[in-house]
Amino acid sequence: MSFILHGVGVAGGIAIGHARLAAPAALEVAHYVIPKNQVDQEILRLNGAFAMVRKELETLQASATDGPTFAEFSAFLDLHHMILDDPMLAEAASHCIAQTHCNAEWAITKQMEQLLAQFEAIDDAYLRERKADVTQVVKRVLKALLGHSGNVPSPIKHTGDSILVAHDLSPADMMQYKQHQFVAFLTDLGSSTSHTAIVARSLNIPSIVALHHARQLIFENDRLIVDGSQNVVIVNPDKHVLSEYRLRQSQLGLARRKLQRIKTVVAMTLDGTPIELYANIELPEDLEQVKESGATGIGLFRSEFLFLNRDNLPDEEEQFEAYRIVAVKMRGLPVTIRTFDLGADKNIKNAKRVAVNPALGLRAIRLCLAEPQLFHTQLRAILRASHFGQVRILIPMLSSVSEIDQTLRLIEYAKQSLRDEKAAFDEKIQVGGMIEIPAAALCVDMFMRKLNFLSIGTNDLIQYTLAIDRVDDAVAHLYDPLHPAVLWLVSRIIQSANRANVPVAICGEMAGDIQFTRLLLGFGLQQFSMYPAQLLTVKREILKSHLPDITPWVHKILKAESPEKIYGLLMKLNDKVL
Ligand code: PEP
Ligand code: MG
Repeated sequence: MSFILHGVGVAGGIAIGHARLAAPAALEVAHYVIPKNQVDQEILRLNGAFAMVRKELETLQASATDGPTFAEFSAFLDLHHMILDDPMLAEAASHCIAQTHCNAEWAITKQMEQLLAQFEAIDDAYLRERKADVTQVVKRVLKALLGHSGNVPSPIKHTGDSILVAHDLSPADMMQYKQHQFVAFLTDLGSSTSHTAIVARSLNIPSIVALHHARQLIFENDRLIVDGSQNVVIVNPDKHVLSEYRLRQSQLGLARRKLQRIKTVVAMTLDGTPIELYANIELPEDLEQVKESGATGIGLFRSEFLFLNRDNLPDEEEQFEAYRIVAVKMRGLPVTIRTFDLGADKNIKNAKRVAVNPALGLRAIRLCLAEPQLFHTQLRAILRASHFGQVRILIPMLSSVSEIDQTLRLIEYAKQSLRDEKAAFDEKIQVGGMIEIPAAALCVDMFMRKLNFLSIGTNDLIQYTLAIDRVDDAVAHLYDPLHPAVLWLVSRIIQSANRANVPVAICGEMAGDIQFTRLLLGFGLQQFSMYPAQLLTVKREILKSHLPDITPWVHKILKAESPEKIYGLLMKLNDKVL
């Protein structure tokens, strides 16, 4: 049966392929329908797996010897027994098989998700931490199921046209999937400025989030069309729709190739104002795309991605090498390394703290200052890399001048440690701050006296100005870059920086969205940093824009009271041939 799902597109373009269903916590299991007459057998298979794991745990318990860790180990096994016996897991999974005729692996994984969601809602950090135990128990059951069944399909194979369908993906999951070469990503949850969406965008493949029921409604191997620009997924399209989309797909490919013609053209408005177009990257591997985009520098290297998906932390040498490679490959063009912005939705494995409101918690520079040794290691690595190119340091999530003072002191301390070792680094390395908290926007004049450059993080600035959690799709419709408060803050930061002659860029997603290009030019912005795949489209818009004609529109927009009015004016500004 063919049907359409609507969501929020995070990257444009069209992908055509087959569904690969993913479970969270990297438990990739197949989803298939059991013939009616084999449902009882499937439930028996599930019960058999539970019995096998129970036995395993008993054997472990019997083999445990008295010792200093005995009590702890025994308590751990008791807990796993309890989870195994929880009716929410075994009974509910059997019920799910009976009701929906799904396979046992799928049923148990679904129940796991529901249990995890319940744990998440518990207002007790200890109990919330027990999520890992639930996952471990389910992994044992899955192992038992997969190891003892003749009719279980082999693990998911990633063919050249796989489209990953997941309930939710963390930024760390996305980084793992980066190597898999999916042609599109679909998720039930998420919003367009979540870090998951940002990574998807950097992969330059169409992706849609906030689909709500995609993973329930889409089956393994279903044929899918993903239209990232129209925000739709067409499931099992008929042959006419399929051929129409194949045609559109090849037209888009042609248009993209045409854009390559302006790769080496200098970005400049019609009236001769030069504009810098920088790229955002997560890892040195992204440089390939940066080269193709013709970017004149790296405006944002989200260094925290070096810290994800691993059991240990990257040491100074490893970080130095990553930063050095980028500096060398950019051949003297600016490379802006943001010190790690961990916390909120990007956490290292086994992070000790579970914040109640992670976006408002110990994140970014707050975490750096709370963990000075970790920060010192990174600062030394960045400073050493500065000897190999034009490296700049960018501090995320500043909210007060005292944080700048403390950070500058720690940078000086790291510099001194290198001087003592006679290690080479750029003594005049530029230090900039991200303006992404309203307090920073309002105090920007004070901040500028201490910093060499600014970068506006509109993703967080919007989140914190409007009090909208950027990863929560329940409030995603309220996340509005055109809210008068947001525009007022952004225009004011740019004007203040221009007046003080302090370079200012935008590195949030607004910089890569062409509906805002003219507006931002009108605010006086001359540095844009974005995911590389979007850079030439923005450049084309800049080449067609004439600043003196834009300015009166921008004044009108800044006076408008409602986002609707602003949107209307913006559409007119964008439609105009200037
Ligand atoms: C931002 O907040 O706009 C930004 C660029 O930083 P991040 O998206 O990584 O939080
Ligand atoms: Mg940010």
